[in-house]
Amino acid sequence: MDAVDLAVIGGGVIGAVTAYEAAAAFPGADIAVLERGLVGGGATSRSAGVHFPRGATARVRSMTEHSHRYWQRLAAELGLPVHPTRATVRASAERADAVRGAYLELGAETEPDPGTREWVLDGCHYADVEGVARAILTDLRPRATVWEGVEVAALDGDDGWVLTLGHGETLRARRVVLAPGPWIAHPAWADLIAPLGLRVKKIVAAHLDTVPGPGDALAVFDDEDAFVLPLHHRGHFLFSYTCDEWDVDPDTVERGLAPSDLADARAVLRRHAPNLAPLCRSGRVFCDAYSPAREPVVAELCPGLVFAGAAGGSGYRLAPAIAAEAVAALASATSHPSNR
Ligand SMILES: Cc1cc2nc3c(=O)[nH]c(=O)nc-3n(C[C@H](O)[C@H](O)[C@H](O)COP(=O)(O)OP(=O)(O)OC[C@H]3O[C@@H](n4cnc5c(N)ncnc54)[C@H](O)[C@@H]3O)c2cc1C
Repeated sequence: MDAVDLAVIGGGVIGAVTAYEAAAAFPGADIAVLERGLVGGGATSRSAGVHFPRGATARVRSMTEHSHRYWQRLAAELGLPVHPTRATVRASAERADAVRGAYLELGAETEPDPGTREWVLDGCHYADVEGVARAILTDLRPRATVWEGVEVAALDGDDGWVLTLGHGETLRARRVVLAPGPWIAHPAWADLIAPLGLRVKKIVAAHLDTVPGPGDALAVFDDEDAFVLPLHHRGHFLFSYTCDEWDVDPDTVERGLAPSDLADARAVLRRHAPNLAPLCRSGRVFCDAYSPAREPVVAELCPGLVFAGAAGGSGYRLAPAIAAEAVAALASATSHPSNR
């Protein structure tokens, strides 16, 4: 049986950043990342990859600040596919106080129409999140093992953890970080995760068939938790809005737009950018895990087993802070991964 100090289950953006930071925090520790498909192929591959400095609670605001600085530094160090963008945020006048409290880098307030407020929002970017996860794990490979096409079929506590792998072999790990994205119901850990009360929600982002111009900026509609993003590197706009379909299964969720998705997207667009509604004819559909508090969860489920995820549609922009909390949870365990 192979043995490592730390196994990270899941090669999405959260597992990738967590493994990267664990390797930095515990030099010399044997670390393995185990990914059932290809790195970055889960929710990460569908992500719009928007980062805007927003947080409804003190914890998420602090996570946003940490992640903001982290992405700026790592994007420069590794040449990540991260694209800074100008941005505005718009809200109804009644919600202006909430906006002022939630966003970290708001510019001067204007009143484009009576009853509406708008701010310039600094510090935004968008990323090819799959490319980010792959680049991080490529950089990590000399210092860690990255196994793709390897499902963790069972997880058993036994003087550390024993992982039964889909191809029949086993791996012993002193510590485990579980970063399964929306695959929270996998039989290997469903019972362990159940007390967290997580649920999986469908996420829809429509694609708008028009090529962004150089001056086009990200427009956030805070009242609706929606945004229009010019994806310059792909040659179209993306429209993200809130879809309220819960308890979907990531293995069976329909990955194409349903008629209701198109109708809902167009209805929200008509309220904010009526000229764009007819351009909405395609898109991307997947899902993510959400916590009851609508904040990411980092929790030691059992000694040496740390869950990291449930980022509720913000897993790219908050991944560095989630990883930092996961590494702190590993370090505060009775013996950390490098203490053999
Ligand atoms: C359409 C859409 C748009 C989004 N837009 C944004 C955005 O603009 N900004 C933002 O911050 N976030 C956004 N998100 C959310 C963000 O993409 C996710 O929160 C983030 O990708 C979650 O990363 P993860 O690593 O937790 O999960 P995943 O990327 O799903 O990674 C989990 C990995 O675990 C693997 N796995 C599962 N079970 C096993 C097993 N048994 N054995 C081995 N491996 C296993 C899976 O194959 C998967 O690769 C969006 C999501 C969607 C769907």
